[in-house]
Amino acid sequence: MAAIDYCVEIVKPRQSTQDLTLSEDLNHWKQSPYVINHSVYRPFTEEHIIFARMLNDPSFADYQVGVHAHLEEVFRLNKKGYSRIDEALSSASWTVYDHFTEAFSWKKLNASIDARFDVELEKPADIKVIIDDPHNMTKIVKQAAKAFGAALVGVCKLNRDWLYTHDRQGNPINIPDHIENAIVVAVEMDLEALQTTPAFPGAFATGNGYSRMAFIQACLAEFIRGLGYDAIPAGNNIGLSVPMAIDAGIGQYGRHGLLITPQFGSNVRICKVLTNLPLVPDKSINFGALDFCRTCKRCAEACPSQSISYERDPSWSGPTISNNPGVLKWYVNAETCYHFWTINGNDCSVCITSCPFTKSRHSLHCVARFFIKHFPLLNRLWVKIDKWLGYGKQRNPDVFWNERKEFILKY
Ligand code: SF4
Ligand code: SF4
Repeated sequence: MAAIDYCVEIVKPRQSTQDLTLSEDLNHWKQSPYVINHSVYRPFTEEHIIFARMLNDPSFADYQVGVHAHLEEVFRLNKKGYSRIDEALSSASWTVYDHFTEAFSWKKLNASIDARFDVELEKPADIKVIIDDPHNMTKIVKQAAKAFGAALVGVCKLNRDWLYTHDRQGNPINIPDHIENAIVVAVEMDLEALQTTPAFPGAFATGNGYSRMAFIQACLAEFIRGLGYDAIPAGNNIGLSVPMAIDAGIGQYGRHGLLITPQFGSNVRICKVLTNLPLVPDKSINFGALDFCRTCKRCAEACPSQSISYERDPSWSGPTISNNPGVLKWYVNAETCYHFWTINGNDCSVCITSCPFTKSRHSLHCVARFFIKHFPLLNRLWVKIDKWLGYGKQRNPDVFWNERKEFILKY
C-alpha cells in the first residue's frame, strides 16, 4: 500500500481531559495516526500492564491468579478444543519465547560451539560497516527480517514517549541516547488455528507467533550487530509495540486496542529491534480503519468479557490503571479481559478473529478493503455483509487436528 502524507498530530495542551472538543480532535485523527494530549500523556510503566499487576498488585481482583488457575475444572467440562492434548500443544508453542532468553539480549551473543566442526567459533572483530546509503540499508534490513520470517516490516524514528519508564519488576528502562531507530516486525499467526479461539488451538497460534517473534528479533539483532551497530530486540517489553508499529507504517489502531494491518487485519504479533543503524523511516498509513471502527463494533459484540467499548467515538482515558490516558482511542478493560482468560484456562483472541479486517488476502477481500479506504459511506453495508456471510464465528477446534490442515505460513 502506498504511504500517504499522514503525520502525528499533537493537540494544543489542555488543563484536563474534560476540556475537549471531540469532533475537532476526530478531524485531527483522520489526518494523523494518533492524537495525543501532551498535557495529560506520560510515558507508561510496564508495572501497570495486566500481567505485571497479576503478579504484583494486591488491589487487582485477580492478583496471583494465573491464566491456568482453573485448568482442572476446564478439563472436566470436556469441551472440544479444551483437552489436555490441546493444552499441552498451546503451552509448548511458547517454548522459544519463554526459554530462549538470549532473544532479549542487548549485547552480541557469545561465540558458540559450531557443531559441524566441534570448535569454538571465532568471529572477526566487529568493524562498523560504513553506510553511505541509508535507503539501501533500509531495504537490506527489511529483506533480512523477511528472510527470518517477518510478514511485515517497517522502520520509524524511535519516539521515546512509547518507551516504558520501568519494567515489570519496577527497574528503570534506559535506552541509550544514540539508539534512534526502531525496526518493527509483524509476524503472521496461523489464522485457521486462531479462529478456534477461545479454545486452546487458538492459544497455540498466539504462542507460536510469540516464539517465532523471539527467533526473528534475535536473528535480526545479531545481523545488525554483525554490521557493527547496536541492537536491542524486544517482544512486548521495553515499550508499546502498537504505536511503534503505527509510526513504522504497518497499520492503524483498532477499537479492540490492537494493531490493524491492511494485509492481515489483526492477525499479527509485533516485535521490534531498536538500533543506531542508519535507516530511513517509513510513513504512517491510513486505510480507513478509524472510520470503519466507528461504525463496526464487531469485536465489542463478540468479546466474551464485554471489555471493549461500544461508544461510537474514541475517548481520552480508560477504566483502569492499566490504561494510560492522553491518547485519543478506544480503551479496553484489561482487568475484565484477563478475568475471562482465567476462567477460560488460556488466552483469548476473539477480538482478533471477529474483526472484519482479519481475513485472508483473497481478491474479494481486497475489493472490500479498497472500498473501506476510499468510500467510508459504505462501511455500514460492509459490516452487515461480514455478519451475513458468517465471518468472525468460532471455527470447530477439530480443524486443527485434521490431517489435511496445512501449517506452512506464507510470509
Ligand atoms: S482478548 Fe478476548 S476477552 Fe479480551 S478483549 Fe479480546 S475478545 Fe475480549
Ligand atoms: S472488529 Fe470492527 S470495531 Fe473492532 S477493531 Fe475490527 S474493525 Fe474496528
